[in-house]
Amino acid sequence: MKRLITLLFLVNIIFYLQAKQKEPNYTIIISLDGFRWDYPEMYSTPNLDKIAAHGVKAIMLPSFPASTFPNHYTLATGLVPDHHGIINNTFWDVKAKKQYSMGDSATRNNSDYYLGEPIWVTAQKQGVKTGNVYWVGSDIAIKGTYPTYHKFFSEKPRLSFEQRIDTVISWLQKPKVECPQLIMLYFEEPDGVGHHFGPKSKEIKNEVQYLDSLIGVLLTKIKSLPIAQKVNLIITSDHGMTEISKNRVVDMNLYLNPEWCEMIDGTTPTSIFTKPECRDSVYNALKKVAHIFVWKKEEIPTELNYGSSDRIGDIVVAPELGWQFTDKGRNLKGAHGYFPQSKDMQVVFRACGPDFRKGYRSNSFSNVDIYPLLSHLLGIIPENTDGQFQRVEKMLVP
Ligand code: AMP
Ligand code: ZN
Ligand code: ZN
Repeated sequence: MKRLITLLFLVNIIFYLQAKQKEPNYTIIISLDGFRWDYPEMYSTPNLDKIAAHGVKAIMLPSFPASTFPNHYTLATGLVPDHHGIINNTFWDVKAKKQYSMGDSATRNNSDYYLGEPIWVTAQKQGVKTGNVYWVGSDIAIKGTYPTYHKFFSEKPRLSFEQRIDTVISWLQKPKVECPQLIMLYFEEPDGVGHHFGPKSKEIKNEVQYLDSLIGVLLTKIKSLPIAQKVNLIITSDHGMTEISKNRVVDMNLYLNPEWCEMIDGTTPTSIFTKPECRDSVYNALKKVAHIFVWKKEEIPTELNYGSSDRIGDIVVAPELGWQFTDKGRNLKGAHGYFPQSKDMQVVFRACGPDFRKGYRSNSFSNVDIYPLLSHLLGIIPENTDGQFQRVEKMLVP
């Protein structure tokens, strides 16, 4: 009996060592900006459906606010925006007394704003190569590091969507020692079309179907690679999209006396840095306005994970889903930035490849869990983050 137990113990150790020695597979993660979770239910997406049939299908929740820079950087770091510092597409930098904006290259490229550690930095510190086409943060020297292979989003001409796919394939054709284990790929659609025409338009239908056909092209090109059987593919997004209307606008200027405020920044949500003696006046003036939420910073609901960063004002104002603070000069039909719990803000998640279970339907999970998921797939030790591997573990082959 004793011998048998010793033998079983040894067999277990051998299995464990073999598992540890198993070479990690290659992983491609794609973000289709603003790809709402239910686009594949509304429009024809045979390639995403194929991935679901051969892999994993889920709905993923963004972090608050459901906007591009906060969420792509959450996907990269596993930290909520409140912790990684990019608390909105724009924010007031109280220390330097200037505005950070994703549209202003001087502030956007200042690595000091980007807290936490992107997955490509964690990977490279542990000797794992990465490739990156245009993911938020990948063209900025965060912690002094770029991905091994990367492209600058601001460099013109920007790569077409087809060229981006060819770039990814060319990286996967590199000799083994040079080949990136993790590839991150960004497309700025269907966000743009969703803003201009809304999530239920014929234009978004065409765009979604075009993007799906591109995924089909990528799948075919992956299939022709010698390492095809070792490639995982994840398709996801940063936030959803909801319909807006000129009839659903709250003009805060009607209620706010500018004299009460040091700075008013951002929409969906708006951060107000009040003059200390005027905080109650701002709060009381806005509290009675319909279709908006007004919080003192310390009273923001815990499920939004928002309120510890000094880049957030002492009063935060958020519109109800589908409401806006201004529609001046934009004439848009779709918007995002609302609560992660609002269904319209939630995003598509599809994954397939050797590490993913086939035909698996996962519970919804938060986008902070992507960083630990990628760390596991790469076989690297993750930093401590807001993500939890246990929430996504079941989608993997045991
Ligand atoms: P928004 O819909 O306002 O949250 O932002 C979407 C826009 O972010 C896209 O249309 C891009 O122009 C912009 N964007 C995405 N990635 C980057 C990047 N790496 N650098 C600069 N701008 C970016
Ligand atoms: Zn976006
Ligand atoms: Zn957008």
